[in-house]
Parts: sequence; structure tokens; C-alpha cells
Amino acid sequence: MNQVMYDFALQDAQGATCTAHAWAKVPAPLTTRQRDELKQRAAELLKARGAALVAHYYVDGDLQDLAQATGGIVSDSLEMARFGRDHAAQTLVVAGVRFMGETAKILSPEKRVLMPDLDATCSLDLGCPADDFAAFCDAHPDRTVVVYANTSAAVKARADWMVTSSCALEIVSDLKARGEKILWAPDKHLGRYIQDQTGADMLMWNGACIVHDEFKGLELELLRAQHPDAMILVHPESPAAVVAQADVVGSTSALIKAVVEGQAREYVVATDKGILHAMRQLAPGKVLIEAPTAGNSATCKSCAHCPWMAMNGLQGIVECLEHGHGEIQVAEPVRVQALSCITRMLDFTAALKARQAAQAAGSLVAGMGAA
Ligand code: SF4
Repeated sequence: MNQVMYDFALQDAQGATCTAHAWAKVPAPLTTRQRDELKQRAAELLKARGAALVAHYYVDGDLQDLAQATGGIVSDSLEMARFGRDHAAQTLVVAGVRFMGETAKILSPEKRVLMPDLDATCSLDLGCPADDFAAFCDAHPDRTVVVYANTSAAVKARADWMVTSSCALEIVSDLKARGEKILWAPDKHLGRYIQDQTGADMLMWNGACIVHDEFKGLELELLRAQHPDAMILVHPESPAAVVAQADVVGSTSALIKAVVEGQAREYVVATDKGILHAMRQLAPGKVLIEAPTAGNSATCKSCAHCPWMAMNGLQGIVECLEHGHGEIQVAEPVRVQALSCITRMLDFTAALKARQAAQAAGSLVAGMGAA
């Protein structure tokens, strides 16, 4: 199997950043027949082992289809965490990157959590080593520590809150309203976006997603000129020049909802291209255009597809179920410490959802009364 090297930003405890390197394996292509046979075998094994497949929107379309066909889920990282915790299956197969498997294990220590490839990582996780992060936190004891889901279990163990891109805005707004100053890690672009939106006092770690970091503001402007009626959908891990041009900024779930509910015919999508699979299924009449990652201002390396998400394959699903490969382990003291920041987020989002549902029901009743 071939490997490709990627550069990522690595910060230390003093705040200094250097460029480090990480590799990703390039999966061997499969024939149609191999794909069909592996899909069938994986479905049989999931059933035989009583396992649920929990897949992220960025993994290969075959895995997303398999998850849907076998009673699993395809979702963003917040829903993956919730689904894994609440599902009755005693074995979870997590198709995504390592921190997603760790989150599932932290929430459900009694379950067996398998992953198709344990080397599937994330530049945000790699760029925020636990020891340096702990020292950075120690140097700023007056700040509430908020970490993005894309971090190791050991980093979460040092945090007060975990957030995902679908709830970060609400949680940071709430913390700001309570007068708290924030230490944010690791994604600088998402952090800047949240800071712009909330006005919160945020001290940032200097991490970035190697995929979203490659979207280009200048080339997006040129593309918009060619498609003036298109809606621009942007994930907030993207650079400011790209976010500034967005009609919708949001998590993977929010961007899919925007395509499904939007009135436009064309959509320019600035996030990992794996998401197009779900968008095509849910909004078949819409025209989807990938946002530019290359052009006059630069070339791309990941080219809008996460190399670590791409390491998840049908072969890996079959092998982890057949042989028990790829089992996630989290040391119990770390797990217990990491659990509290994740539970805090899940409790917050559940309460928020309940409040929003109550408000919507109240508006409906008020509307009926008015009529
Ligand atoms: S797309 Fe970016 S943030 Fe998501 S797993 Fe890959 S490197 Fe990490």
C-alpha cells in the first residue's frame, strides 16, 4: 500500500508553531465485483456480530450506504457520539478517524469499539499533543478550556468542554454570557469564526485541518462570478476569506440541510467532498459544485478529501469484524476524566433541543390562537 506525506501545524506549550509531517495510506482501488462481495460480507458480519456501523459523512460512499442499509448511521461527529452511546449494540464499528472511535469508547466503555484502520488520524488531533496542551492550559488557569471534538482522549481529559461544529457557537455564547474567558483548541479557523460571531474572549491554539485550510478565497470569488445564483456553503474550519463569502456557514449536517431545503439550483460546497454522496441522495435535483482548493494562488495536496477518512474501506470493515482488529482502547483514568467534558456537551445540546422544541410548540399554539 502506498503512503503520502502531509504537512500540518504543530504547536508547543509556549505557543510556538512549526511544520510537522504525517503520512496517510492510500487504499488500493477495488473492482465492482470486489466492492459488491465485500459489501455483502460486511453486512453479514455486522448482523452476525450484532454490531452497528457508525459512519461519518466524509467516508467513502460505499461505507455510508452500508451503514444505512444495516441499521447504523451516517452523520456528523455530534450525532455519531450520541448514536453510539444510545444504541443497544455491544459492538460499534466506527468509520471515521481515531478521535471518533475514542469518543465512542469514552461514552460506552462496556462496548467493543472497532475501527477499519487505527492509523486514520486528523491533523487537528496531531497538532495538539496532550503534554504541551496541558502545559499551555496550566499557564492560563483563569480560562475555561474548550476543545473541539477533533482531539485525543488525553486532550479531552484536560478540557472543561468538548464542542463540535454543530454546537460550538451556542456553547461559547453561553460561556461568554456567564462572563467566562476561553482557551480554545485546536482549530484556529473555527475558533476565529466563533470569536467573530460571539465576541468572546478566546485564546487560540494554532491548529488547522489540512483539508479545509486548502480552500481558496480568490478562486472562490472567480467561481462565484461564473455561478452568480449559486448558494455558497462553507464549513467553518475553512480560512476567513472563504467563510466571508458564504451564504451558509455550518457543520456537515447544517450544510446538507441547506442543500435539501434551499431554493437555489446550484450549490458551491466548501467542505470534504465525501459529503456530496449524502447531498446527492437527499437532494437529487440540485447541482453541486466543489469549492476550489487550487488555481492561480496555489495547488492542493488533499484536494478536498481527507486522506485519513479515505483510509476507511470495506476491506477494513470486514477485517475488523472477522478478526477483531482495530479495537479502540482508552486507559480508564483518562476515559473518566475525558467523559465529563463530552457529557457536558451532550447535556447542553439535549437541553437546547428541548428548549427549541418547546419554543416551536409555543409559537404554533400562539399562531393557532391568533387565527
Ligand atoms: S477533514 Fe480535517 S478535521 Fe476532518 S478528520 Fe480530516 S484532517 Fe481532521
